[in-house]
Amino acid sequence: MSEDILLCPACGAENDALRQACVKCGQSLIVVCPRCNTVNAITAEQCFACGQPFDTLGQIMARHEVRFTDRFTRQATTAIEITAAQKESDRARSQQLWAQEQQRQDRLANQLLRRKAQERQLLVITAIAVLVVLAIVLLIAFAR
Ligand SMILES: [Zn+2]
Ligand SMILES: [Zn+2]
Repeated sequence: MSEDILLCPACGAENDALRQACVKCGQSLIVVCPRCNTVNAITAEQCFACGQPFDTLGQIMARHEVRFTDRFTRQATTAIEITAAQKESDRARSQQLWAQEQQRQDRLANQLLRRKAQERQLLVITAIAVLVVLAIVLLIAFAR
């Protein structure tokens, strides 16, 4: 393994392939995969672990991809949280509406009962009045 020689891309010095920096100029001899963080030799064209290309475009894409995934995950989480909160408030609201509707129904039923009672009272009063008038008429008739 230590037989492997790596030429420094900056100064051309021969380096042990396992070194992380050039013995002569200090140039980094490794590249860390932006996608999976695996350490690769500086000469690698792509990550040996995940295949991520190490050209400029590949690096930009990897960074973008990571950021996009992160953002998407965060948005999705937020959306789920919002949906849950929305559902909870919807449920509370529909319960509230249901209670209000129940109260309204109760009030209507009460009003209906009261109106029926009033009608019955009115009927009784009318009947009594009719009877009284009838009695007076009969009394007058018999008094003659
Ligand atoms: Zn060097
Ligand atoms: Zn990788």
